[in-house]
Amino acid sequence: MIVTIDGPAGAGKSSVSRMLAERIGFQYLDTGAMYRAVTWSVMQQGMDPSDREAVAELARQVKITFENGKVLVKGQDVSQAIRSPLVTGAVSEIADNPDVRETMVALQRSMVELGNFVCEGRDQGTVAFPNADCKIFLTASPDERAQRRYLQLVEEGVSADFQDVLTTQTVRDHRDETRPVGKLVKAPGSIEVSTDGMNFDKVVDQLETIVIQQLRI
Ligand code: C5P
Repeated sequence: MIVTIDGPAGAGKSSVSRMLAERIGFQYLDTGAMYRAVTWSVMQQGMDPSDREAVAELARQVKITFENGKVLVKGQDVSQAIRSPLVTGAVSEIADNPDVRETMVALQRSMVELGNFVCEGRDQGTVAFPNADCKIFLTASPDERAQRRYLQLVEEGVSADFQDVLTTQTVRDHRDETRPVGKLVKAPGSIEVSTDGMNFDKVVDQLETIVIQQLRI
């Protein structure tokens, strides 16, 4: 069984999806981490992100795996590095690349073959798993999303400025919503949940209720 959770940056998708998966006994697939891992590799190799063919080839070659909640690139733990503001600022250009997307979607489909998954991203209910058993679109207002991301960075000890976070988010939202392939859009048949003013537990409770009803588990 597949549950998809799509939505804009900072709506709380990652932490909520991880906890939801744990509660219902599903595995969790963080597809944003995959685009971030490709971006990190591009930067690491000093590659020009606008060189679409070279970046697409790198995406085909690079080995991205998940292990005990960690993201590995060729066996190296990059879980922290892929969350840096530098990677966050550069990821949209990589995710715009249709050939990179094709490779990532194929990888996502192969990763979920063995098991039940909560798949989180932008295109999970539209492109990767249009026949998912339950689709959720998780949103929140731009200000609330930026505030959460800012606090998260501060908590992680990354120096950050709220206005910078908001600006990066606005640019990223725009690119996510307008890219020709895999753009962020509410999937047909998905249930929209706005998390404005809701705390973490309340969001997870609400999603768990929806998922249990839809999957009849
Ligand atoms: O969710 P997260 O912020 O980690 O995603 C990083 C970036 O990866 C997003 O801004 C988006 O451009 C891209 N992405 C995507 N499709 C997905 C997941 C993420 O294009 N399924």
